[in-house]
Amino acid sequence: MHAAAGSVETAAGNGETYGAEITKMIRVYGIVQGVGFRPTVSRHAMARGIRGSVSNKGPYVEIFAQGKQQDVDAFIADIGNKPPKRAAILKLLEEPVEEPEKFTQFDIIESEKTKGEIFVSPDIAICDECKAEMFDPENRRYLHPFINCTCCGPRLTILDSLPYDRERTSMKEFPMCPSCADEYHNPDTRRYDAQPVCCNDCGPEVYLAGREERGREAITYTRKIIASGGIVAIKGIGGFHLCCDATSEEAVQRLRQRKRRPGKPFAVMAQDMEAVKKICKVSEEQEKILTGHQKPILLLDKLPGETGLCESIAPGNPKVGVMLPYAPVQLLLFHYDDGIRMPGLLVMTSGNTSGAPICRDDEEAAEELSYLCDCILSHNRKIRIRADDSVMDFYKGEPYMIRRSRGYAPLPFMVSTPWKGQVIAAGGELKNTFCIGVDNRFYPSPYVGDLEDLRTVKALKETIGRLETLLEVQPEVVVCDLHPKYNSTVVAEELGYPIVKMQHHYAHILSCMAENDCEEKVIGVSFDGTGYGTDGTIWGGELLVADWQGFTRLGSIEPFVQVGGDISAKEGWRIAVSLIWQNMGNLEKTLDTVRKLGLCTDQEAKVLVTMAQRKINAVTSTSAGRLFDGVSAILGIRRASTFEGEASTALEFAAEAWRKQREMQKKNPEENLKIRMSEKEDIPESTGISEASEDERKFILNTGEIVAYLVRARLAGEDPGKLAYGFHRALADEILAACGEAERQTGIRKVALSGGVF
Ligand code: ZN
Ligand code: ZN
Repeated sequence: MHAAAGSVETAAGNGETYGAEITKMIRVYGIVQGVGFRPTVSRHAMARGIRGSVSNKGPYVEIFAQGKQQDVDAFIADIGNKPPKRAAILKLLEEPVEEPEKFTQFDIIESEKTKGEIFVSPDIAICDECKAEMFDPENRRYLHPFINCTCCGPRLTILDSLPYDRERTSMKEFPMCPSCADEYHNPDTRRYDAQPVCCNDCGPEVYLAGREERGREAITYTRKIIASGGIVAIKGIGGFHLCCDATSEEAVQRLRQRKRRPGKPFAVMAQDMEAVKKICKVSEEQEKILTGHQKPILLLDKLPGETGLCESIAPGNPKVGVMLPYAPVQLLLFHYDDGIRMPGLLVMTSGNTSGAPICRDDEEAAEELSYLCDCILSHNRKIRIRADDSVMDFYKGEPYMIRRSRGYAPLPFMVSTPWKGQVIAAGGELKNTFCIGVDNRFYPSPYVGDLEDLRTVKALKETIGRLETLLEVQPEVVVCDLHPKYNSTVVAEELGYPIVKMQHHYAHILSCMAENDCEEKVIGVSFDGTGYGTDGTIWGGELLVADWQGFTRLGSIEPFVQVGGDISAKEGWRIAVSLIWQNMGNLEKTLDTVRKLGLCTDQEAKVLVTMAQRKINAVTSTSAGRLFDGVSAILGIRRASTFEGEASTALEFAAEAWRKQREMQKKNPEENLKIRMSEKEDIPESTGISEASEDERKFILNTGEIVAYLVRARLAGEDPGKLAYGFHRALADEILAACGEAERQTGIRKVALSGGVF
């Protein structure tokens, strides 16, 4: 038993009040181990005069609480409201105990670790106490690039296997010095039981890969390069970043050229909150996320005008991805005692070549990054599992996950359905993450990447192996995408377990249901780029009726012919020509329209139409992503994309900009109403949905009519921003109408929205 936690004698045990007492059993699920959970529970019990016990049961902490009703309730509320700093409670269940034993005190029960049922903690950003120590010249960890404590530091990324202790992490190569060992063993210190504990006398070291400089010299050299406009690669927690001065147009342009990445936004790391507020609008809720212990990249609205941030960081984008330093070495890039003046904003983009996974060791960095950068600041603490930065957006004041990785993975989702069994789901082809299911808990992996690149395929296999070991699972079945040519399907088959193939859009809806712990049948609106349909065509804008058992395809957007395979995903003008031809049904009219819209040459259009007619390299598609790309091209916003989603996000930005401009013009409620009325006339009236005759689909969204309207309006000289807005709104209206119709036909009232388009 821990000295600090102790047993608690309480006055309530004398029999007088016993008759009025209750006993409850409480189970707390989540990150409840290695974060001081039991001592905290014990302190809450002491404060409320509760008797009972607390013990680790592997996947959960079990608590017995005996006392007066109001005290027990207050105690349970305390656990939920005031958990230890780094705990993450996923679920708190309580139930009365009918014939309880009589407790005389509150005990912490030491229990054996249960095999295979442990929650692995995500990596935790440096805490304020460690930060203060790191910048305190009197502290023995002054400027130590690896400072950490029980509350912060690497976790998942350094873990070999469980249980989580130093011997099974990358830290096993670094014996603790006597001072660190003292802290590690003393429950009164901040580093009691902190597995990665180290200091300037022991532990890992930073150095420049391929050069002499180590420690202080390496950091100073790196800072000098950044300050003079150079590019550096820096090894952090879950991999390498490429970094340069985000206030220097020249430096950012050089990085773009070297990385061959003309327009895709770069993430920015700001030295502190003040620096963030100089370039972006930040709400209170957003500030909480930015400064929290997970430190994701947050997409924030740029402030207008000259803010110091280069335009080429996120060209043409009203938002920019910003994060605060989370690894000690990142803080040292901004602040060090070498007198070099550093910018307050740095580009911090994943250290990889396009398509490949983030580099995690010197070998990979030398091979992929050395020609991109001027020096490589590395260190000798091995990264076991890659973890890219997580990316989050906000929607209506609530955080909204775009990429769930470092700081969150592999925190599981739990569903109420009491499933038993173990399963691996191999994930999709682009932006792959996989997931391991153990009974009713689902552990999504860190972000893996695009599996078109064989290096990413290798990373997927390796990471599946690591997480299998960590979670000690032996899957009974592996789930993969229905697409026969996906590399994730190949990887799944190689694992050697029985395979279940799952339709892409159904999987999207299932993931949405699991994330929201939904057990009911739903109307699933799954809108994304590309998924292999059960009929062999490309699906993408689908309405399904789905539950855990299966799905039926209720409807989709209007099918069109997608010509040219992969290239049509990058060149939206090809889709545009296809859509126009489908509407016109006539080559001459199509050529005339294409010419007026400036989409391509007559020759190119003719080739496309011929291929579509003769079904050469052409497939029937209901891809919503491609529809957005095509509309973006028709409206003259983006003819093609240099990165995934460029054309469709540009369409969204145009719509947002037009809406904002409109809102500015609304001066009083009366005018407001007038504008809304006139808007309605300008936007294609939702034509509702039409009946489908083919397959099981009940109806087709009239997206063809929307496109026809947009073409006419664009040729009549209408503002593209207004039409972009009109397109979003008309499509949303059609989806609403379709959901209404689906409800009428099925009686289902719950809708699940999922897929990349949403
Ligand atoms: Zn700390
Ligand atoms: Zn030490």
